[in-house]
Amino acid sequence: MLGLGIESTAHTFACSVIEKKGKKGKILADIRKIYRPADGQGIHPREASRHHVENASIALSECLQKSKIQINDLDLISYAAGPGLGPCLRVGAVVARSLSSYYDIPIYPVNHAIGHIELGKLLTGAKNPLVLLVSGGHTMLLAFLEKQWRVFGETLDSTLGQLLDQFGRSLGFASPCGRQIENLASKSTNYVSLPYTVRGNDVSFSGLLSAAKQIKDKGIEDACFSLQETAFAMIAEATERALSFTEKKELMIVGGVAANKRLSSMLKSICKRQGCKFFVVPLEFSGDCGSQIAWTGIMESTVKPGAKLSDTFVRQSWRLDTVKVDY
Ligand code: AMP
Ligand code: MG
Repeated sequence: MLGLGIESTAHTFACSVIEKKGKKGKILADIRKIYRPADGQGIHPREASRHHVENASIALSECLQKSKIQINDLDLISYAAGPGLGPCLRVGAVVARSLSSYYDIPIYPVNHAIGHIELGKLLTGAKNPLVLLVSGGHTMLLAFLEKQWRVFGETLDSTLGQLLDQFGRSLGFASPCGRQIENLASKSTNYVSLPYTVRGNDVSFSGLLSAAKQIKDKGIEDACFSLQETAFAMIAEATERALSFTEKKELMIVGGVAANKRLSSMLKSICKRQGCKFFVVPLEFSGDCGSQIAWTGIMESTVKPGAKLSDTFVRQSWRLDTVKVDY
C-alpha cells in the first residue's frame, strides 16, 4: 500500500510517500520546504501560506521523483487538517483535494499532533507509551486509553517551542531558535534562578519568559542555560508524576523540541528511576514532516474508507483528544 502525506500546518510545506508492507512502513521520500521569517520575527501566516503555494508543486514533484512512483500508483492521499494556521492549512488541503478528486484516490484528513505520535511509534518501536509531545504548537503529556489519547498535563499558556522561539527572537535570532539556544546553553553551567511554575500537572511559561528576558543582558549563555534548565525541569516533574500515575512502562518524546539533548538526558534519568523504557523520535523526524501525515493516513485507511470531499475542510483548533482512534 502506498500513501502520500501532505503537511502544511505552520512553517513547513512537506510531502512524503510511505509504503506499508504488513505492519511495517518504509519512507520512500520525505521532502520539506521550510518558510523562514526574518531575524527576530515570528511566522506571518499570510507570508507562510504564500511560501507554501509557491513550493507545493516543487515539493510534490521532488517527492514523486524520489519515491519513483506516479500519482496513479497511490492508494491514498492524506493531509494535515489541523491544528494549525488557517491560511497554511488550506494550502495543503487544496493540494490534497485537487489530487484526490482529479485522480480519484481516497483522501484522509489527519490530525497533525496524532501524526507526530504515530510516526514516533513507527520509528521507535514504542508500543504503549506515555507520550510527551513538545513542539511549536503543543506541550502535552498523553496516554492512550479506550481508543483516544487522554491528556495528563499540558501548558496553560505558550508551548515549550514558543517559549524557546520567543526568547530566541528577543535575542535577535531567526525562528525557529531551539537549536541555537541549545548550543548557547551548552556553554554555561551558571544557573540564575528563574520562575518555576507547575500547577497540578500543567505548566506555565509566561513568567519564565519575561524573567529570562530580564537576565539576558547579564550573559546570553547563562540566560539560555537557566531558561532550559528551568523549563525542562518543569516538564520533567510533570512527566514523572504522569508516569507514576499511569504506571506506563514506556516514555516517548516527539515534536521539534525532542531534538534537544539536555531534555532527553533529564527524561532519561526519570525513566531510570521509574523503571521504564525511554524512546525519542529520531532527530530527522522530530519536526513537522509529511511522513507523520502519510503514516497516520495509512493507519486510518486500514479501518475506514476515504472522506467525502465535502468533509475535507481544515480545523485550526482541532484537539487530538477529540479524535477516535480505531486502528
Ligand atoms: P515542530 O512544531 O514540531 O516542527 O517543532 C518546532 C519547534 O522545535 C520550534 O519551536 C524549534 O525551536 C524547536 N526545536 C528544534 N530543534 C530544537 C532543539 N535542538 N532544542 C530545542 N528546541 C528545538
Ligand atoms: Mg508539529
